Amino acid sequence: MDVVVVGAGVAGLVAGRRLQEAGRSVVVLEARDRVGGRTLNDTIAGVTVEVGGQWVGPTQDRINALIDELGLERHPTYDEGDGVVELPGGKVKRYAGDTPPLSPLALADLLQAQRALDKLVETIDLDAPWDTPDAARLDATSFASWLSRRVRTSQGRAFHEIIAAAVFASEPDTMSLLHWLTYIQAGFGLERVIGVHGGAQQDRVVGGTWRISERLAEDLGDALVTSAPVRRIAPDEDGVTVTTDVGTYDAARVIVAVPPNLAGRIDYEPALPTRRDQLTQQLPHGHVIKVMVAYDEPWWRAEGLSGQAASVDGPVGVVFDNTVPGQDPGILVGFYEGAHALYWGEKSPTARRQAFVDCLVRYFGPKAALPIDYVERDWAAEAWTRGCYGAHFPTGAWTRYGPALREPVGPIHWAGTETATRWMGYLDGAVESAERATTEVLTALA
Ligand SMILES: Cc1cc2nc3c(=O)[nH]c(=O)nc-3n(C[C@H](O)[C@H](O)[C@H](O)COP(=O)(O)OP(=O)(O)OC[C@H]3O[C@@H](n4cnc5c(N)ncnc54)[C@H](O)[C@@H]3O)c2cc1C
Repeated sequence: MDVVVVGAGVAGLVAGRRLQEAGRSVVVLEARDRVGGRTLNDTIAGVTVEVGGQWVGPTQDRINALIDELGLERHPTYDEGDGVVELPGGKVKRYAGDTPPLSPLALADLLQAQRALDKLVETIDLDAPWDTPDAARLDATSFASWLSRRVRTSQGRAFHEIIAAAVFASEPDTMSLLHWLTYIQAGFGLERVIGVHGGAQQDRVVGGTWRISERLAEDLGDALVTSAPVRRIAPDEDGVTVTTDVGTYDAARVIVAVPPNLAGRIDYEPALPTRRDQLTQQLPHGHVIKVMVAYDEPWWRAEGLSGQAASVDGPVGVVFDNTVPGQDPGILVGFYEGAHALYWGEKSPTARRQAFVDCLVRYFGPKAALPIDYVERDWAAEAWTRGCYGAHFPTGAWTRYGPALREPVGPIHWAGTETATRWMGYLDGAVESAERATTEVLTALA
């Protein structure tokens, strides 16, 4: 066997595919009884929807190319009509266009902060964030402390708290300024990261974005083994031995395509270099509970509403229209994120459904009160994911441990969206990571 790939998320599946294309013998070992990792389809009111990763957008060239390669199609997110913002204190405001309906003072405040952030974003060295000019200071500063110094209005700070929750599923005090800047630069700037049309929320895959993983798995055939959690990786002079609950595999190289928090749960013999081992102890995931409700039709559209809402108090802080084109039911998707997810994750599904519906009534009016169906997924409760959307770097982590993120250890190579330089944390980053790790392996085997 040439290569073992650990994990059949998008990264592991793509690595397996590229290695097969290169004529290498490969096996992809997946802990769960299904493929796709953080992508997964479910149904609501009889319609197929995604309870994991779903959107793709412009500049995400790798995932878009893969969708085309697999013969899949996209459909756009509904993005017409007015959005809604709930300001700190509970006032709900409807607005048109891209500018949130904040006070002139808050808007000016946001603009000056954005200019300062944009300047810093441009300085980021995406290949090596730890080599960014002034990296030590940017890494020692939490994003929260930067905001408290540079954003003076409560509305301005609330705007950034909503974005941190929506993008990182966490709060500004949990990540370094260097991480915030790196992540935003990796996503081609804040507008792309948070945008719908022209941004990261622009499109979904027809049949549900999990179709990407399903199609990749079909093509891998017998080279894919599910229900095979990898417990131990032991390199020796001949290559590497990978031990799972269902068997042992010898190979020349191994690609570990799982997030760092799970890579750290595998036993390595001999132990990994300290910097690499400590990295896996430093990168927590955010916390997301993705929730959806369905109605007989998308009634908000007739009222000139886009179905998009944002609130700092939530507890469901961002909402989008998730109706599937050509299907009758109107669907709204929302996210319990960060501290809201932590609190509401301890409640019952019935309580979470009601709290979501209560938010929707405040954002869009009384017609939201009676959905016909509900679906949810708490990704922190999944043993083989442990939180989402992905990992973030707390203060000090990039500069101390960043160099170990992609650096192979003997025959062990690292993939997964957390290791990407572009669209880290996203599906596109998962593909980039797989292609980079595959190139490393093919070069080593040549
Ligand atoms: C609710 C939610 C919404 C999201 N929305 C979007 C979005 O709209 N757009 C976007 O681009 N991204 C989104 N994401 C992020 C996106 O889903 C991920 O970036 C991407 O799926 C990560 O792929 P991966 O292969 O790197 O990791 P994973 O999908 O985590 O795959 C890792 C795989 O490894 C397996 N595994 C772990 N440990 C072991 C082991 N020891 N042995 C064997 N197998 C193991 C896991 O079971 C898993 O299948 C979202 C994620 C979530 C959860």
